[in-house]
Amino acid sequence: MAETDWLVDLFHKAKASHWCMSLGCTTCGSMEFRTAFVVTAAQRAGMDVSRAESRNAHPVVSKLNAEELAKVFETMIRALRALDARKVDTDGLEVLLHDLNPPMLRWGALTSLKEALKGSSVGDWYESELEWERMQRARAREREFFESPGQTVLRRAEKRAARASEHENRVHAGALRGARRTALLAELAGMNDAARLAWLAGGADGAPIDMLPADLIPTHVEPSSLDRPAADTLLRLIGARRGPWRKLRESILACLAPNSPDSSPT
Ligand SMILES: [Zn+2]
Repeated sequence: MAETDWLVDLFHKAKASHWCMSLGCTTCGSMEFRTAFVVTAAQRAGMDVSRAESRNAHPVVSKLNAEELAKVFETMIRALRALDARKVDTDGLEVLLHDLNPPMLRWGALTSLKEALKGSSVGDWYESELEWERMQRARAREREFFESPGQTVLRRAEKRAARASEHENRVHAGALRGARRTALLAELAGMNDAARLAWLAGGADGAPIDMLPADLIPTHVEPSSLDRPAADTLLRLIGARRGPWRKLRESILACLAPNSPDSSPT
Protein backbone atom coordinates (compact mmCIF):
# COMPACT_ATOMS: atom_id res chain seq x y z
CA MET A 1 0.00 0.00 0.00
CA ALA A 2 1.40 3.35 -1.05
CA GLU A 3 1.96 5.80 1.77
CA THR A 4 -0.76 8.03 0.38
CA ASP A 5 -3.47 5.40 0.04
CA TRP A 6 -4.83 6.15 3.49
CA LEU A 7 -6.72 9.11 2.10
CA VAL A 8 -8.39 7.03 -0.61
CA ASP A 9 -9.34 4.57 2.12
CA LEU A 10 -10.70 7.39 4.22
CA PHE A 11 -12.99 8.50 1.39
CA HIS A 12 -14.18 4.91 0.98
CA LYS A 13 -14.82 4.58 4.68
CA ALA A 14 -16.66 7.90 4.77
CA LYS A 15 -18.89 6.80 1.95
CA ALA A 16 -19.55 3.36 3.44
CA SER A 17 -20.30 4.89 6.84
CA HIS A 18 -22.45 7.65 5.37
CA TRP A 19 -20.37 10.32 7.05
CA CYS A 20 -21.57 13.81 6.43
CA MET A 21 -19.43 15.64 3.87
CA SER A 22 -21.38 18.81 3.64
CA LEU A 23 -19.27 21.93 3.99
CA GLY A 24 -20.57 24.14 6.74
CA CYS A 25 -23.14 21.58 7.89
CA THR A 26 -24.88 23.21 10.83
CA THR A 27 -25.97 19.89 12.32
CA CYS A 28 -22.71 17.95 12.64
CA GLY A 29 -20.11 20.19 11.02
CA SER A 30 -18.90 17.06 9.11
CA MET A 31 -17.00 16.39 12.33
CA GLU A 32 -16.61 12.63 11.85
CA PHE A 33 -14.93 12.98 8.48
CA ARG A 34 -12.78 15.99 9.35
CA THR A 35 -11.53 14.48 12.61
CA ALA A 36 -10.70 11.17 10.91
CA PHE A 37 -8.67 13.09 8.30
CA VAL A 38 -6.55 14.96 10.85
CA VAL A 39 -6.13 12.00 13.22
CA THR A 40 -5.19 9.60 10.42
CA ALA A 41 -2.73 12.10 8.94
CA ALA A 42 -1.14 12.61 12.37
CA GLN A 43 -0.87 8.87 12.86
CA ARG A 44 0.65 8.48 9.39
CA ALA A 45 3.12 11.21 10.33
CA GLY A 46 4.21 9.03 13.24
CA MET A 47 2.38 10.75 16.05
CA ASP A 48 0.78 8.89 18.88
CA VAL A 49 -2.74 10.21 18.67
CA SER A 50 -5.98 8.37 18.88
CA ARG A 51 -9.34 8.92 17.34
CA ALA A 52 -10.92 8.10 20.70
CA GLU A 53 -9.35 11.16 22.27
CA SER A 54 -11.99 13.49 21.08
CA ARG A 55 -15.09 14.01 19.04
CA ASN A 56 -13.31 16.66 17.03
CA ALA A 57 -9.79 17.29 15.83
CA HIS A 58 -9.15 20.40 17.83
CA PRO A 59 -7.68 18.74 20.98
CA VAL A 60 -5.49 16.57 18.77
CA VAL A 61 -4.13 19.53 16.86
CA SER A 62 -3.70 21.73 19.93
CA LYS A 63 -1.34 19.18 21.53
CA LEU A 64 1.04 19.25 18.59
CA ASN A 65 4.05 21.53 18.48
CA ALA A 66 4.98 23.58 15.42
CA GLU A 67 7.25 20.90 14.01
CA GLU A 68 4.61 18.20 14.41
CA LEU A 69 1.95 20.42 12.89
CA ALA A 70 4.14 21.01 9.85
CA LYS A 71 4.69 17.26 9.54
CA VAL A 72 0.95 16.55 9.66
CA PHE A 73 0.30 19.24 7.09
CA GLU A 74 2.95 17.79 4.81
CA THR A 75 1.44 14.31 5.18
CA MET A 76 -2.01 15.64 4.27
CA ILE A 77 -0.70 17.55 1.27
CA ARG A 78 1.27 14.54 0.01
CA ALA A 79 -1.84 12.36 0.21
CA LEU A 80 -3.96 15.01 -1.47
CA ARG A 81 -1.42 15.43 -4.27
CA ALA A 82 -1.56 11.69 -4.92
CA LEU A 83 -5.36 11.69 -5.07
CA ASP A 84 -7.34 11.60 -8.30
CA ALA A 85 -9.95 14.31 -7.77
CA ARG A 86 -12.27 12.66 -10.29
CA LYS A 87 -12.42 9.49 -8.21
CA VAL A 88 -13.46 10.96 -4.89
CA ASP A 89 -16.42 12.82 -3.52
CA THR A 90 -15.58 16.45 -4.25
CA ASP A 91 -17.91 17.62 -1.48
CA GLY A 92 -15.62 15.79 0.89
CA LEU A 93 -12.60 17.25 -0.82
CA GLU A 94 -14.02 20.69 -0.31
CA VAL A 95 -14.51 20.01 3.40
CA LEU A 96 -10.90 18.83 3.79
CA LEU A 97 -9.36 21.69 1.86
CA HIS A 98 -11.43 24.11 3.86
CA ASP A 99 -9.70 22.86 7.03
CA LEU A 100 -6.27 23.31 5.48
CA ASN A 101 -6.82 26.86 4.42
CA PRO A 102 -5.05 29.09 5.14
CA PRO A 103 -2.04 26.82 5.82
CA MET A 104 -0.09 29.54 7.60
CA LEU A 105 -2.73 30.29 10.21
CA ARG A 106 -3.92 26.74 10.74
CA TRP A 107 -0.78 24.71 10.30
CA GLY A 108 2.08 27.17 10.46
CA ALA A 109 3.06 26.24 6.91
CA LEU A 110 4.58 29.04 4.87
CA THR A 111 2.68 28.36 1.69
CA SER A 112 -0.69 28.88 0.13
CA LEU A 113 -2.96 25.92 -0.41
CA LYS A 114 -3.00 26.65 -4.13
CA GLU A 115 0.79 26.58 -4.23
CA ALA A 116 1.00 23.42 -2.12
CA LEU A 117 -1.39 21.55 -4.44
CA LYS A 118 -0.19 23.06 -7.72
CA GLY A 119 0.21 20.61 -10.59
CA SER A 120 -1.83 17.82 -8.96
CA SER A 121 -5.28 16.57 -9.86
CA VAL A 122 -6.68 17.99 -6.62
CA GLY A 123 -4.77 21.22 -7.28
CA ASP A 124 -6.40 21.58 -10.69
CA TRP A 125 -9.79 20.88 -9.20
CA TYR A 126 -9.14 23.37 -6.41
CA GLU A 127 -8.17 26.09 -8.88
CA SER A 128 -11.29 25.53 -10.93
CA GLU A 129 -13.26 25.70 -7.69
CA LEU A 130 -11.56 28.95 -6.78
CA GLU A 131 -12.35 30.28 -10.22
CA TRP A 132 -15.94 29.19 -9.80
CA GLU A 133 -16.08 30.81 -6.37
CA ARG A 134 -14.61 34.01 -7.74
CA MET A 135 -17.26 34.04 -10.43
CA GLN A 136 -19.99 33.39 -7.88
CA ARG A 137 -18.69 36.14 -5.66
CA ALA A 138 -18.46 38.54 -8.59
CA ARG A 139 -22.01 37.65 -9.56
CA ALA A 140 -23.22 38.08 -6.00
CA ARG A 141 -21.52 41.46 -5.84
CA GLU A 142 -23.10 42.50 -9.13
CA ARG A 143 -26.49 41.37 -7.93
CA GLU A 144 -26.00 43.15 -4.65
CA PHE A 145 -24.96 46.29 -6.47
CA PHE A 146 -27.83 45.99 -8.91
CA GLU A 147 -30.31 45.55 -6.10
CA SER A 148 -28.82 48.22 -3.85
CA PRO A 149 -31.19 51.12 -3.07
CA GLY A 150 -28.97 53.62 -4.86
CA GLN A 151 -28.99 51.57 -8.04
CA THR A 152 -32.72 51.03 -7.89
CA VAL A 153 -33.25 54.77 -7.64
CA LEU A 154 -30.76 55.34 -10.44
CA ARG A 155 -32.49 52.80 -12.68
CA ARG A 156 -35.86 54.34 -11.96
CA ALA A 157 -34.44 57.75 -12.87
CA GLU A 158 -32.98 56.31 -16.08
CA LYS A 159 -36.32 54.81 -17.01
CA ARG A 160 -38.00 58.10 -16.33
CA ALA A 161 -35.42 59.92 -18.46
CA ALA A 162 -35.92 57.39 -21.27
CA ARG A 163 -39.66 57.88 -21.11
CA ALA A 164 -39.25 61.65 -21.10
CA SER A 165 -36.95 61.54 -24.10
CA GLU A 166 -39.38 59.24 -25.91
CA HIS A 167 -42.11 61.73 -25.21
CA GLU A 168 -39.91 64.56 -26.42
CA ASN A 169 -39.20 62.64 -29.61
CA ARG A 170 -42.89 62.11 -30.18
CA VAL A 171 -43.67 65.76 -29.57
CA HIS A 172 -40.77 66.74 -31.78
CA ALA A 173 -41.95 64.44 -34.59
CA GLY A 174 -45.45 65.89 -34.21
CA ALA A 175 -44.05 69.41 -34.41
CA LEU A 176 -42.12 68.47 -37.50
CA ARG A 177 -45.23 67.08 -39.11
CA GLY A 178 -47.01 70.29 -38.12
CA ALA A 179 -44.29 72.43 -39.70
CA ARG A 180 -44.36 70.41 -42.92
CA ARG A 181 -48.11 70.69 -43.01
CA THR A 182 -47.98 74.45 -42.52
CA ALA A 183 -45.43 74.80 -45.32
CA LEU A 184 -47.50 72.61 -47.64
CA LEU A 185 -50.68 74.55 -46.93
CA ALA A 186 -48.86 77.81 -47.62
CA GLU A 187 -47.62 76.35 -50.89
CA LEU A 188 -51.12 75.16 -51.88
CA ALA A 189 -52.62 78.53 -50.96
CA GLY A 190 -50.16 80.15 -53.34
CA MET A 191 -51.26 77.95 -56.26
CA ASN A 192 -54.10 78.63 -58.64
CA ASP A 193 -56.98 76.16 -59.04
CA ALA A 194 -55.34 74.39 -62.01
CA ALA A 195 -52.10 73.84 -60.09
CA ARG A 196 -53.96 72.56 -57.03
CA LEU A 197 -55.96 70.25 -59.29
CA ALA A 198 -52.72 68.97 -60.81
CA TRP A 199 -51.34 68.44 -57.29
CA LEU A 200 -54.47 66.46 -56.38
CA ALA A 201 -54.41 64.52 -59.67
CA GLY A 202 -50.74 63.66 -58.95
CA GLY A 203 -51.92 61.79 -55.86
CA ALA A 204 -51.43 64.85 -53.57
CA ASP A 205 -47.84 63.66 -52.98
CA GLY A 206 -49.22 61.13 -50.55
CA ALA A 207 -50.65 63.84 -48.28
CA PRO A 208 -54.18 63.32 -46.96
CA ILE A 209 -56.44 65.45 -49.19
CA ASP A 210 -58.63 66.27 -46.20
CA MET A 211 -55.93 68.62 -44.97
CA LEU A 212 -56.97 70.92 -47.81
CA PRO A 213 -59.21 73.69 -46.41
CA ALA A 214 -62.58 74.00 -48.15
CA ASP A 215 -61.70 77.35 -49.75
CA LEU A 216 -58.67 75.79 -51.44
CA ILE A 217 -60.62 72.96 -53.08
CA PRO A 218 -61.00 73.68 -56.81
CA THR A 219 -64.63 73.19 -57.75
CA HIS A 220 -64.46 73.79 -61.45
CA VAL A 221 -62.45 71.83 -63.94
CA GLU A 222 -61.48 73.03 -67.41
CA PRO A 223 -62.05 69.95 -69.62
CA SER A 224 -58.78 70.64 -71.44
CA SER A 225 -56.79 70.51 -68.19
CA LEU A 226 -57.67 66.93 -67.34
CA ASP A 227 -56.85 63.69 -69.10
CA ARG A 228 -58.57 60.41 -68.38
CA PRO A 229 -56.01 58.86 -65.95
CA ALA A 230 -55.85 62.10 -63.95
CA ALA A 231 -59.65 62.22 -63.82
CA ASP A 232 -59.75 58.62 -62.58
CA THR A 233 -57.17 59.36 -59.89
CA LEU A 234 -59.15 62.39 -58.74
CA LEU A 235 -62.43 60.49 -58.63
CA ARG A 236 -60.77 57.77 -56.59
CA LEU A 237 -59.27 60.34 -54.20
CA ILE A 238 -62.52 62.27 -53.78
CA GLY A 239 -64.64 59.16 -53.27
CA ALA A 240 -67.97 60.02 -51.70
CA ARG A 241 -66.83 63.25 -50.02
CA ARG A 242 -69.40 66.00 -49.84
CA GLY A 243 -69.45 69.77 -50.07
CA PRO A 244 -66.86 71.32 -52.38
CA TRP A 245 -65.49 67.84 -53.10
CA ARG A 246 -68.87 66.80 -54.50
CA LYS A 247 -68.84 69.85 -56.71
CA LEU A 248 -65.37 68.93 -57.98
CA ARG A 249 -66.52 65.36 -58.61
CA GLU A 250 -69.48 66.54 -60.62
CA SER A 251 -67.30 68.90 -62.62
CA ILE A 252 -64.88 66.07 -63.44
CA LEU A 253 -67.70 63.73 -64.43
CA ALA A 254 -69.10 66.44 -66.71
CA CYS A 255 -65.73 66.66 -68.44
CA LEU A 256 -65.79 62.91 -69.03
CA ALA A 257 -69.14 63.16 -70.82
CA PRO A 258 -68.12 65.29 -73.84
CA ASN A 259 -71.44 65.06 -75.61
CA SER A 260 -73.40 66.53 -72.78
CA PRO A 261 -71.06 68.83 -70.87
CA ASP A 262 -73.83 70.10 -68.60
CA SER A 263 -75.21 66.74 -67.56
CA SER A 264 -74.32 65.28 -64.17
CA PRO A 265 -74.61 61.49 -64.27
CA THR A 266 -75.00 59.97 -60.87
ZN1 LIG B 1 -23.65 17.11 8.71
